[in-house]
Amino acid sequence: MESHNLAERKQASALSSGMTGTKVTVAGWLQDTRNLGGIAFLLLRDRTGVVQVTALKKKLGDEVFTELTSIPRESVLAVTGEVKENEQVSTGFEILPESYAILSRAATPLPLGIIDKVGVELDTRLNNRFLDLRKEEVLGIFNIRNLLLKGMREYLGNEGFIEIHTPKIVAAGAEGGATLFPIEYFEKDAYLAQSPQLYKQLLMSAGFDKVYELAPAFRAERSDTVRHLAEFASLDVELSFIDGSEVIMNVLEGLITHSFKTVIDEGQAFLDKLEVELKEPSTPFPRITFEESVDILEQNGLRLHGDMDTEAEKKLGELMLKEHGAELYFITSFPTELKKETFYAMREPEEPSLTRYFDLDYRGEELVSGGQREHRYNFLVQQMNEIGLDEAQFGFYLNAFKYGMPPHGGFGLGVERVLHMMLSLPNIRECVLFPRDMNRIIP
Ligand code: ATP
Ligand code: MG
Repeated sequence: MESHNLAERKQASALSSGMTGTKVTVAGWLQDTRNLGGIAFLLLRDRTGVVQVTALKKKLGDEVFTELTSIPRESVLAVTGEVKENEQVSTGFEILPESYAILSRAATPLPLGIIDKVGVELDTRLNNRFLDLRKEEVLGIFNIRNLLLKGMREYLGNEGFIEIHTPKIVAAGAEGGATLFPIEYFEKDAYLAQSPQLYKQLLMSAGFDKVYELAPAFRAERSDTVRHLAEFASLDVELSFIDGSEVIMNVLEGLITHSFKTVIDEGQAFLDKLEVELKEPSTPFPRITFEESVDILEQNGLRLHGDMDTEAEKKLGELMLKEHGAELYFITSFPTELKKETFYAMREPEEPSLTRYFDLDYRGEELVSGGQREHRYNFLVQQMNEIGLDEAQFGFYLNAFKYGMPPHGGFGLGVERVLHMMLSLPNIRECVLFPRDMNRIIP
């Protein structure tokens, strides 16, 4: 094998007119070979795009030409040769090979085609995810995810929030026991954290003022839907010295707008690959109270029994779009009755049947839940008692409310939910590299 200077390799997108006539090394996966007899076109793909390698039999000799053109698809190659401008190639350049090396030969047949446009079941794709991720539109999702998170961190950093990390191995949950995954933890009962809720509240007592965490959250949900995962990325935000949830919603609105803008400004090429036209959402997002949304639904012939179910959420999404042109909207003032399990939710002092809790929905899909928390020790304990929680188990949490806790609140945002809607993907599993759900733990 000839040696190629891999460290100096040029990526597909780096080829430029200035390199014309010079010798470069390119490397990547052999996407396709078109052999026309005397001439062959090899498409070599890397993270940034595809380079055409144009092989001439006359120049390379019969033996080398035959060998080069019979390398199986998706093998990893390094090719060294001259750069030539060619308008007929999408990137504008081709490489005339002088030497090449097979760095890794791919077995045949491939379990999954990379460029074949035939429909493949999501399950098959996920089973062979390392191959699936080679598709440029699939890779595009994760490049957009990267930009979305970059925009989110940027916004929160600029607003004075600091990034924190709280434990994912916990002794008590924030959302009730039903969705906790128990784990073996020496001789103690322990669980995977459903949310950093309790810990970010402790940090408000500690005086951190404005925090955010971007970390996995685990839910033992028995919901096999296109929008539920057993492990998802949660962006949790918490801030102190608030009076009401308006300021929290404003932070959230700013966060969504800025991160959309980042994706639009820096991710156009990826959006194009996915054929997604993304517009910056217009602000302010409409705010309707839970009660108003119930009325709207009833006027449209849908009667609710308790909380909104998926059908009602969907219907409300349609109505908000039709009547207000709004894809994103807040549902505010959730009834206390529906937030009993969320024992830390603050109730309106003047109207205790309502909480200061809200959801942010996109076309009927919940993206975020948040609100002001109860910071007064006595009220908090009383709310825990109402649902029969064992105070002793929450001692580590309650103590923080005894010795100086400012009024505070925040939200939890599902990163994959945001991507799911932003890219109009049919299934939330598309937005995770290696999704975890009721049926899947491998790969
Ligand atoms: P839903 O009612 O849609 O199942 P939830 O009200 O149980 O969600 P929260 O506890 O409010 O969820 O969590 C905050 C956010 O985390 C949600 O708004 C959502 O974006 C995200 N999220 C919650 N559960 C999941 C899940 N199983 N998979 C993916 N994202 C989730
Ligand atoms: Mg919720």
